[in-house]
Amino acid sequence: MDSDRIQRKAYAKVNLGLDVLRRREDGYHEVRMIMQTVDLYDTLTFSKQKEKGILVLTDQEALPGDESNLVYRAAKLITDTYGVEQGIRIDLQKRIPMAAGMAGGSTDAAAVFHGMNELFDLGMGQEEMCRLGVRIGADVPYCIMGGTALAEGIGEKLTPLKAAPSCFVVIAKPDLEVSTKYVYENLQADSLAFHPDIDGMQAAIDMGNLQEMAKRMGNVLETVTETRYPVITQLKELMKAGGALNALMSGSGPTVFGIFDTQESAGNIYEELKNKKITSQVFLSALV
Ligand code: ATP
Repeated sequence: MDSDRIQRKAYAKVNLGLDVLRRREDGYHEVRMIMQTVDLYDTLTFSKQKEKGILVLTDQEALPGDESNLVYRAAKLITDTYGVEQGIRIDLQKRIPMAAGMAGGSTDAAAVFHGMNELFDLGMGQEEMCRLGVRIGADVPYCIMGGTALAEGIGEKLTPLKAAPSCFVVIAKPDLEVSTKYVYENLQADSLAFHPDIDGMQAAIDMGNLQEMAKRMGNVLETVTETRYPVITQLKELMKAGGALNALMSGSGPTVFGIFDTQESAGNIYEELKNKKITSQVFLSALV
């Protein structure tokens, strides 16, 4: 790689905790979430081009590189804001399951901020990147920051937390796509019977206590997605029976992740899920 070409990893996230406080007048939901990056990533390669404009190429037929792609939209926003004259080509190698609740699109957009900032020496600080990034999506500022964080507001008000205690993570994406919009629209935000203990989880993370952290994992969006798709319950039960400290749906789903304290138990359930063929996408991962 030379100064005309750089590469960046765009990490997926899981929600260790996801609570919805209320539906706002404008239709958005006020949330409290504990976000965590996991070692599962897309790869973006940025190259300066002689020809003007933005060219986005992806390795997935189902995901065009046109204006609908968050990578393109982030590149356009940066180009327009900073008056970037030179052309750019971005190659996206996708690994993060799509429409999965893992912020795949948002993390790609976040990588574009870091990548173009470096490639064109734009001098954007993290705050400036987040300020622009939220225009692409509410999860983009978190993805720009990464690590363990409390996200409030519509997800854009961020408080960095101490890194969550290290553990092994098994991720299974059922073979179905779930639209985030559908899930929020069908959430009975004002009559939720259960709210996860986000403050308690934050305290457990602060103390580096993996067991107490895992005990408090909870996601109110399961009331919509898990109810509709029993495979989510099936995956959670299999992971718990296989020794997971806890298992949960991430974001609006349908991805399920389990937290394990040993590599052996995580590895065993990873193999079991792959053999059972309940879903074609299973990953053995860790927190990053
Ligand atoms: P979140 O957890 O933020 O709700 P998600 O994992 O549910 O995200 P994404 O994979 O981010 O969902 O994307 C949902 C839709 O956005 C896709 O079906 C696709 O049409 C569109 N999209 C646009 N750009 C991208 C991208 N770079 N990667 C993935 N999806 C993208």
